[in-house]
Amino acid sequence: MPAQILDGKIISAQLEAELKLRVDAMVAQGNIPGLTVILVGDDPASQTYVANKEKACARLGVRSTTLRMPADTTQEALEAEIIKANADPAVHGILVQLPLPRHLDSDRALSLILPEKDVDGFHDINAGRLSRGLDCVVACTPKGALHMLKTAGIDISGKEAVVVGRSNIVGKPMALLLLQENATVTVCHSRTKDLAEHTRRADILVAAIGKPRFITADMVKEGAVVVDVGINRVDGKLCGDVDFEPVAEKASWITPVPGGVGKMTIAMLMSNTVDAAEKAFAK
Ligand code: NDP
Repeated sequence: MPAQILDGKIISAQLEAELKLRVDAMVAQGNIPGLTVILVGDDPASQTYVANKEKACARLGVRSTTLRMPADTTQEALEAEIIKANADPAVHGILVQLPLPRHLDSDRALSLILPEKDVDGFHDINAGRLSRGLDCVVACTPKGALHMLKTAGIDISGKEAVVVGRSNIVGKPMALLLLQENATVTVCHSRTKDLAEHTRRADILVAAIGKPRFITADMVKEGAVVVDVGINRVDGKLCGDVDFEPVAEKASWITPVPGGVGKMTIAMLMSNTVDAAEKAFAK
């Protein structure tokens, strides 16, 4: 029995519709939410991501500003823009598009963003608060993946969840979110011995590896929920970290690539921006 699709297009559109109402309510009060994106250099993938973020802002009525800085921007110049955006009351969310050119220190830059304007949820304070289960801005991709599971009514509590990948932007926050939802969580990575032994135990399997079609059907338990975070380009086409068709034959639910978690990431960026603006206007 093939898996049901966790459709990022549908779920993100529903979320956007709810967000639009909240933006409209703010705008009716003369309060316009604002997002500033800082893009350094001319990485083509980053340009595409930023263009998609601008389009999402336009759909919702969020004021978006993109600061395009040259590839040879200095750390000082980058930090000066972050400090300026921190101080600007019309800016409620600040996002530094990653990766930055190699000569720049992204940790240092991200740590300068005010935690309440850190709509990517990458600031140490937000990451630390997440690990403690406190109210915080949660990183968009794992937050979006969790939202998909919840929207589909998938039971998480008490389930075996296995996250493959331990990056600060996906794997770790994903594991923490699943733990908060009372799953029993295993985090796997490149040094994990016998990965398949772990993945085959998973009721919920999250792949955030960055290797095309790495998770094969023999690594997946019958009836598992499979969340594919990976975005890989093979022969000019996008594919995930999961070998989609054979795995879909075994899974109960699966996210496609494209049209899965990626769609949720931008919707969650909008959600974090709307939350930040509402909090700022309520002060
Ligand atoms: P990273 O490269 O930062 O992390 C990859 C993780 O996978 C690491 O923890 C690494 O382990 C682990 N890994 C690598 N090889 C193996 C292996 N053979 N066995 C087990 N684990 C392994 O990637 P990101 O977390 O940033 O991204 C992961 C994927 O998600 C990428 O395809 C990326 O493009 C995509 N992505 C998608 C987003 C979306 O919107 N859908 C947003 C962000 C990312 P170790 O730590 O030991 O090196």
